[in-house]
Amino acid sequence: MNTQNIVSVSGGKDSTATLLVAIALETENLQAVFADTGNEHDQTYLYLDYLEQRTGIPITRVKADFSRRIEGKRRFIETKWREQGISEEVVLAALAVLQPTGNPFLDLCIWKGRFPSRKAQFCTMELKRDPMLEQVVMPLMGVGDMIMSWQGVRADESINRRYLPECDEVGGGLFNYRPILKWNIPAVFEAHRYMGVKPNPLYSQGMGRVGCMPCINCRKDELREIALRFPEVIDRIDHWERIVQQASKRGAATFFAGSNAKHPKGSISDMTALEVMEIASIRQAVEWSKTARGGIQYDLLSTSSDSTACASAYGLCESAWEPVNILEAV
Ligand code: SF4
Repeated sequence: MNTQNIVSVSGGKDSTATLLVAIALETENLQAVFADTGNEHDQTYLYLDYLEQRTGIPITRVKADFSRRIEGKRRFIETKWREQGISEEVVLAALAVLQPTGNPFLDLCIWKGRFPSRKAQFCTMELKRDPMLEQVVMPLMGVGDMIMSWQGVRADESINRRYLPECDEVGGGLFNYRPILKWNIPAVFEAHRYMGVKPNPLYSQGMGRVGCMPCINCRKDELREIALRFPEVIDRIDHWERIVQQASKRGAATFFAGSNAKHPKGSISDMTALEVMEIASIRQAVEWSKTARGGIQYDLLSTSSDSTACASAYGLCESAWEPVNILEAV
């Protein structure tokens, strides 16, 4: 029986180290796969090109396509929203933006009419796990080969990851393999150095993690750093907020604010669209990120030691060390 080895690469340090381990072990039938969320920094795309060229291992790029689901949502809005008595202004605004843009992250949010949140973290599954399964893993299943899914997961990243096994069987000949589970961060960077591969340059630019920029779980200090170094990222999210706001039934959608989030002024779900956008938009979150902890009106988000949000056991998103989550007054 042959073994097909698939390494999930995100452009981050852990998945890169995992790929380097596979290469060092002269693993046969090796392929690397990158699930493009459309919310990555340009430097990550360039880094993947570099990694491909430096290691000689081609990296397959996959991305989710929400065209059909957006088309279905259009039909739903045209009929059901009108039947539900939603105002014509809201219906027409939603229909105006319910068109696939080709950017997976934005299309997912347009389709859902909201951004993901810690409590509804559909992004990892929709943007990373499913395209990888559908476009790479499933076509290999059923032909008699064993499939080894190599995941750059480390036990010291979160409680969720601490008790994962190094290898487990998913079923149908598919196994998860986590070769760097017991590694610490210095070991990860040492693997880069040993193999003559540079880490993603974003790590030397104040970023604690590499993946979506920003991630919905990004830390307060990370958000401040992103705004300082990459203001164009904030402009893009601001633009996306306006589009997704239009696709939302209640006319409000903010990148960091889940629909059930709480604020000193009350529950977000009880506020008008305008109120929500005024207190919880990406621009407001950036202003808040510049304040000291506990400071003034921008203190919308709380730091949390619960890192389950970005701690997918699949290793598809590089975990934030201490994710910032939203709108619980400190
Ligand atoms: S990096 Fe963050 S925003 Fe991106 S898919 Fe993962 S959890 Fe979602």
